[in-house]
Amino acid sequence: MKYVGAHVSASGGVENAPENAHNIGAKAFALFTKNQRQWFSAPLTEKSINLFKERCEKYGYGSGQILPHDSYLINLGNPDPEKLAKSRKAFFDEMYRCEQLGIDRLNFHPGSHLKQLPEEGCLNLIAESVNMALDKTKGVIAVLENTAGQGTNLGFRFEHLKYIIDRVEDKSRVGVCIDTCHTYAAGYDIKSEKGYEETFRLFDEIVGLKYLKGMHINDSKKDLGSRVDRHDNLGKGFLGEEPFRRIMNDPRFDNMPLILETPDESLWPREIEWLYSLVEK
Ligand SMILES: [Zn+2]
Ligand SMILES: [Zn+2]
Repeated sequence: MKYVGAHVSASGGVENAPENAHNIGAKAFALFTKNQRQWFSAPLTEKSINLFKERCEKYGYGSGQILPHDSYLINLGNPDPEKLAKSRKAFFDEMYRCEQLGIDRLNFHPGSHLKQLPEEGCLNLIAESVNMALDKTKGVIAVLENTAGQGTNLGFRFEHLKYIIDRVEDKSRVGVCIDTCHTYAAGYDIKSEKGYEETFRLFDEIVGLKYLKGMHINDSKKDLGSRVDRHDNLGKGFLGEEPFRRIMNDPRFDNMPLILETPDESLWPREIEWLYSLVEK
């Protein structure tokens, strides 16, 4: 079963996200459980939590169909100790919100070295940050998203993801989300059939497919290896249509959230419908 959806709005409260997802025909969704541009948000209320759970049940969203995204402010590899502490506290809060909402996974960008640390030093900090958050929460998987490698962001090589996972103590609570736009921009050619096979073979060899907990389904405004993170609507960017047809017919991506983060939201209902239409019977 393919669970396709989009990163929907949670404005007015997390409890509005399941309905927003249902209204566009989504079988999965992503959301921010707090304002993604602020460090602090009020704790979730009992009422919000209960409504969220009720509506997920009503519309048929199980925990494996929901992949929240953390705040863009968080950098779990920040070389500055004070800023790192702030990020760790905020990340713990996000993991805790997922725990409260009964969501079993949280997607995050690994972190950035800001040219103040070698790659390995930064990756060590990220792994330590994940261990700290896992220690203080229950039942939520920390899901590393591969990045485009823009600026000083790490996580654009599968080896970075492996390096972090190797250092996470509880392997049952760490995972990966593959973003198709980021993968291509980072230099993995999923556009050609050969490149697609090779990329996921490499991913399995280096990281392991068992760690894959979701995907972000985006086309890319920038070309292969550009290291620039600019999402495009499906079929409108450099990836075109074929990689998405392959994904929709690839059983390795069954039973996990497949989330659109494409820029023109008005196209989401059509993009979801189109993706399902690619499934060969
Ligand atoms: Zn993404
Ligand atoms: Zn992106």
